[in-house]
Amino acid sequence: MKQYKFWFATGSQDLYGDECLAHVAEHSKKIVEHLNKSGLLPYEIVWKPTLITNELIRKTFNEANADEECAGVITWMHTFSPAKSWILGLQEYRKPLMHLHTQFNEEIPYDTIDMDFMNENQSAHGDREYGHIVSRMGIERKVIVGHWADEKVIGRIASWMRTAIGIMESSHIRVMRVADNMRNVAVTEGDKVEAQIKFGWEIDAYPVNEIAEYVEAAAKADVDTLVEEYYDKYEILLEGRDPEEFRQHVAVQAQIELGFERFLKEKNYQAIVTHFGDLGALKQLPGLAIQRLMEKGYGFGGEGDWKTAAMVRLMKIMTEGMKDAKGTSFMEDYTYNLVPGKEGILQAHMLEVCPTISEGPVGIKVTPLSMGDREDPARLVFTSKTGKGIAASLVDLGNRFRLIINTVDCKKVEKPMPKLPVATAFWTPEPSLATGAEAWILAGGAHHTAFTYDLTAEQMGDWAAAMGIEAVYIDKDTTIRTLKNEMLWNSVAFR
Ligand code: MN
Repeated sequence: MKQYKFWFATGSQDLYGDECLAHVAEHSKKIVEHLNKSGLLPYEIVWKPTLITNELIRKTFNEANADEECAGVITWMHTFSPAKSWILGLQEYRKPLMHLHTQFNEEIPYDTIDMDFMNENQSAHGDREYGHIVSRMGIERKVIVGHWADEKVIGRIASWMRTAIGIMESSHIRVMRVADNMRNVAVTEGDKVEAQIKFGWEIDAYPVNEIAEYVEAAAKADVDTLVEEYYDKYEILLEGRDPEEFRQHVAVQAQIELGFERFLKEKNYQAIVTHFGDLGALKQLPGLAIQRLMEKGYGFGGEGDWKTAAMVRLMKIMTEGMKDAKGTSFMEDYTYNLVPGKEGILQAHMLEVCPTISEGPVGIKVTPLSMGDREDPARLVFTSKTGKGIAASLVDLGNRFRLIINTVDCKKVEKPMPKLPVATAFWTPEPSLATGAEAWILAGGAHHTAFTYDLTAEQMGDWAAAMGIEAVYIDKDTTIRTLKNEMLWNSVAFR
């Protein structure tokens, strides 16, 4: 990824004289300095000279378009700024836009306030004029309201910055398919051309044996080193298997990890799909290998699910470098617990769950897998962290895409599951299992999801809005009646 930065552009006009404009510049510099020093923002903000004319506004937005490191512009009207001056610049601007509706002073200076102060500090007035033109032009933007030194406001700016990175980087996502979608499965299908038009994703297919050749070509010494790393890092859960035979099975996954990664790097792909029914010369279904690749930031989808693979990659990009990140993974709804008061969905996949979401020890197991008709694959097993997260499913409705975002509450299962040889998570969807699952099914959500603890429904919904697609939120405020109406109205709006 590039070293992205955000520009801070303050609007004003020359009606109030040079002294006022000097204050405007001084104030906006102080704000930028404070935001950068806060330690709360994932990306740097760059101060830009005050925008007061049509020509300068247009020039600044076009420079932002051309600057590869600029991921978005944050706008703020310190004084009044007649919004017709912004039309041409906004028309030509193509990157994420934020409107920070703030004010330099936090409190009204009761004892000293006069008309000069009012003219200089009229964001409440100028930001409405500016907001009007952005709305009239139908431009998607984020509006954040509050004093610039308030940590909650800075936190929202930080959160939006990650959405903006998702918008910028979406068009750099390239998904490699080494298998088609699983036969007869509907929800993992979709229009790949439309996905490239909407999201910028390149989704290409390769014969599985082309990647299998890279796996075969992995040097034995490199495989041995990687196996050593696995044995250092993870618990070895032999469960009665012969240690040598176990190690050989693990070595196959190390070989797959090395071969796959070289192939992905050489051909510049950041996400991959596999399919247990199309393994060619591969000796095992890629399990541990895929788990390790996801941990390194690659997107993944099982059974040819390129939409979820791209979404997992998108979430990995949006959360990159996040302090105390709890993890992001491909996931699948597997089994319910329907006991009243303990309702939830056990999440897993055949093998491929990302260890970034793990809590506690991560072990390696080698056990048979009926799917795939190959050797017993090695896989990482663990349980996951607790707390809020979001599960997202991008579906193709035939004429358009819909992103379904469910806020979920991850919990520990009541008891260990010693016979289950896969990594798991367990969550209760908001607002409850009954309503959450009903809403998910009505919305046409998949059994595969892109899951993360580290993003919010708001961030993913803003990304969807920037892509021009429908977002369906399922959370604590969801009722079935309002959801059905919303989807009915959306079906007209997104036609
Ligand atoms: Mn699956």
